[in-house]
Amino acid sequence: MSAPKPSPLRVAVIGAGPSGFYATDALLKQRESVSIDLFDRLPTPYGLVRYGVAPDHQKLKSVTKLYERTCSDPRVRFLGNVEFGKDLTHEDVRRHYHAVVYTVGAPSDRQLGIPGEEKSGCLSATEFVAWYNGHPDYAGLEVPLDAESVAVVGVGNVAVDVARVLSKAVDELAGTDMADYAIEQLRESRVKDVTMLGRRGPAEAKFTTKELRELGELANADIVVLPEELEVSEDSMKAIEGDATRLKNLEVLREMAAKPLEGKPRRLHIRFCVSPKEVLGGQRIEAVELERNRLEATQSGTIQSVGTGAFETLPAGLLLRSVGYRGTALPGVPFDARRNVIPNDRGHVLEAAGGAPLPGEYVAGWIKRGPTGVIGTNKADAMETVEQLLSDDLPAVDAADASPAAVDQLLHKRGVHPFGFEHWLALDKYEQEAGTSAGRPRVKVTAVEEMLRFAEAEAEA
Ligand code: NAP
Repeated sequence: MSAPKPSPLRVAVIGAGPSGFYATDALLKQRESVSIDLFDRLPTPYGLVRYGVAPDHQKLKSVTKLYERTCSDPRVRFLGNVEFGKDLTHEDVRRHYHAVVYTVGAPSDRQLGIPGEEKSGCLSATEFVAWYNGHPDYAGLEVPLDAESVAVVGVGNVAVDVARVLSKAVDELAGTDMADYAIEQLRESRVKDVTMLGRRGPAEAKFTTKELRELGELANADIVVLPEELEVSEDSMKAIEGDATRLKNLEVLREMAAKPLEGKPRRLHIRFCVSPKEVLGGQRIEAVELERNRLEATQSGTIQSVGTGAFETLPAGLLLRSVGYRGTALPGVPFDARRNVIPNDRGHVLEAAGGAPLPGEYVAGWIKRGPTGVIGTNKADAMETVEQLLSDDLPAVDAADASPAAVDQLLHKRGVHPFGFEHWLALDKYEQEAGTSAGRPRVKVTAVEEMLRFAEAEAEA
């Protein structure tokens, strides 16, 4: 017989990005008697919607209206400026909540593992994106925009975002919510050539067609695709059979290759079947050595790249590796270091990959399945996790510990001051008003201390 359901069910959700909001929303919809604390390390909610989605893709950000509705439910509290593992430990959440859902995303990035990668001027796209989006941790990043030639490693949608931002004229970006310092620095940009590097062929590229098409329509940059790099083998065609996006990508790339150059100020090149092998230069990157690849089908039919031993040198004063985000371990929480995810069975955290489930611990989003899919993909993913959570017998919690006041006391004792949703709404209003006069969606506050003033102002009032 299963244990009686706790009422209200106390749940901690760690990380207020899309998957945190979808998990919260699913809990609210499926359980009347629930009380959720949604934590984030930063004072601001929305994770990658605020700090990852490109500033010139503003429409994608309207999803925050739904998240706002989720947070206005009296059964939810947003507690920003609380870092898991430091301000609130694993032990704390086990003591104060019947269940915890980790929705921290994949905050780090993958390395290329090639010589010279440590040279100045080599950054990850993750850092560059966080920088132009005003993430407080990256506001001071040095981005050498004096480079005339930039190499972007990878042909996924993040690579497309950074290549597009670097190719646009600054006036095309100045009306967005891009961080002010980034707009200023991009104004001085000397970039002329941006080259995206795909290690496999055009049929294997990960970008989606809408995003690809946008690259061919840039006012400030000609698109350059080499016809000889668009030849697709029978194996590759077989591997993408019935894949409408990949087939459409090929069509668009062929149109791009046939398009004459118009002499626009910048050029955006998309290359295929080339792998960076070494970053060349002194302290600062000057070029990248590329090896040409051929493609080969594995026994399972997937297509892999194999070096041909033929090399070329691409001049580059800035290299952005855009080869995927990477999940990192949370203190006290199991971690699968091979896949860079929290080991889980459909969202139920396991003590180790293939091991026993941990009572009351769950995971959703990129830290559950790896860094793939668009914002909406996290909705179904979070629902799967919440279904598990609600069907399990959860560990008991002492009545005195199972209240929002007990958590408040604990944080207060540690000198931690959570940034509530009302504080965020005040900051949000300030940012939007600052944007109105400049015809921009908002002007972002990028320093944590400045954000926290919105909580202090209320405390003093
Ligand atoms: P991604 O789609 O997985 O693309 C990663 C790229 O890096 C692939 O081209 C991959 O090539 C390449 N790569 C990996 N290791 C490499 C290596 N050692 N050397 C050279 N190339 C290497 O990842 P992402 O671009 O970071 O995007 C993450 C997710 O966010 C995706 O699902 C994406 O669609 C989504 N996203 C969506 C939007 C949008 O909707 N507008 C915007 C941004 C991001 P292989 O294929 O050969 O491994």
